[in-house]
Amino acid sequence: MKPTAGPATAIGHVIDLVCLVCGRRFAPDEIDYLCPDHGDDGILDVVYDHERIARDLSPASLALDHDHSMWRYRPLLPVASTSTVPPLRVGWTPLYAAPRLGADLGLPRLWVKDEGVQPTGSLKDRASAVAVVKAREVGAQVVTTASTGNAAAALAGVAASVGQPVTIFVPATAPEAKVAQLLAYGSTVLLVEGTYGDAFELSMRAADRFGWYVRNTGVNPYMSEGKKTAAFEIAEQLDWQAPDVVTVGVGDGCIIGGLHKGFRDLFALGWIDRMPRLVGVQAEGSDYLAQAWEGNEDVVTKPGIDADTVADSISAGRPADRIKAMRAVRDTGGAFVRVSDEQILAAIPELARGCGVFAEPAAAAAYAGLRVAVDQRLVATDDRVVVLATGTGLKDVPSAMRSIGDAGIEPLRVRPDLDAVAEALSTHQSPAPTSGEGAP
Ligand SMILES: *Cc1c(COP(=O)(O)O)cnc(C)c1O
Ligand SMILES: [Zn+2]
Repeated sequence: MKPTAGPATAIGHVIDLVCLVCGRRFAPDEIDYLCPDHGDDGILDVVYDHERIARDLSPASLALDHDHSMWRYRPLLPVASTSTVPPLRVGWTPLYAAPRLGADLGLPRLWVKDEGVQPTGSLKDRASAVAVVKAREVGAQVVTTASTGNAAAALAGVAASVGQPVTIFVPATAPEAKVAQLLAYGSTVLLVEGTYGDAFELSMRAADRFGWYVRNTGVNPYMSEGKKTAAFEIAEQLDWQAPDVVTVGVGDGCIIGGLHKGFRDLFALGWIDRMPRLVGVQAEGSDYLAQAWEGNEDVVTKPGIDADTVADSISAGRPADRIKAMRAVRDTGGAFVRVSDEQILAAIPELARGCGVFAEPAAAAAYAGLRVAVDQRLVATDDRVVVLATGTGLKDVPSAMRSIGDAGIEPLRVRPDLDAVAEALSTHQSPAPTSGEGAP
């Protein structure tokens, strides 16, 4: 069922949707997903009326708003004024100053934004919250997605909060914790014996056959709109002084594309006076975008690669949102960098010890990549830098245990006896504190 046209169903302050390949424009009720002329490359960008937004929202009005969720930015989101939003509290995650981590890297002005505290444990909740609203606007019976795990868990969780049925396609290799979330939330789970790419393809064909609403990254133009709220929060939490650099793990490229969109919105509104450089961090074994960046390749024609990395959330052989991701990096003067699985794993305890944020591999990659960016002089000492920690370490405990073992960190084993405790402690080398101990 499609909404009828007219002012009653206008979607907020959206003007239209524009194809990133050919520039063709579509009214919101004229199209569901992709520009019909370019297959899965015909990704759409949502265009807003910033003048009207400025009448409804300002830094001053936000300062008085007690809605501490992503919906505080509702005039900047593609939802109808009549829609109700899901009850799970998505967004407004903390941005922590990280002086000890920063001292370690020679970056005195470093922050870490912790998306691990989202209701289902990753940044994907921001997109899935929008997906559930959009699905209900069109009266969808079922919502589907393919996912490496987190997008599916996010959809399953947000959908469960409103009783919306969902059907999920994940690779059978997805980490157990993510599959457990899906099942607990009550979604129908199809474990696909294949890659994420296979699951994606299958979900698209199933949606077509059964008439489901598609949340898939890239295909659904509203997912990067949800993710852009992370950029709004970063700017607001820094008092509308945009950072110089944001680093983020990149798989499909939807998050980095969303950050770009969010900062562009704020720039268009005049709420920030410059665009941060966006640094996309890819795993060595899943480096499609890093390759394209270095080789100046066209991502519309570049064929997919085989993807394999411990950081399952950034494993993508042909990133679905590759066009938005390349634009994000190019237009902001950013870069793509690569990190090995060893560097990713090493970053898990470093980040946890350095600022108290326990991250899954794809999230720790953003920090590992910052190290590389500092080495490559892509980041300067006086830059204000934000690391986007996109998901919690509890999503993938086996990888966390591996990272701890690799770092030579071990628990002390004792008999239940106080002398044994004393003895164990006397031989134990406590880890040297990093420089710049304590917060200012
Ligand atoms: C999805 C995800 C990413 C990467 O986002 P893309 O939009 O696929 O680039 C990074 N970290 C975590 C934890 C994720 O779930
Ligand atoms: Zn087009």
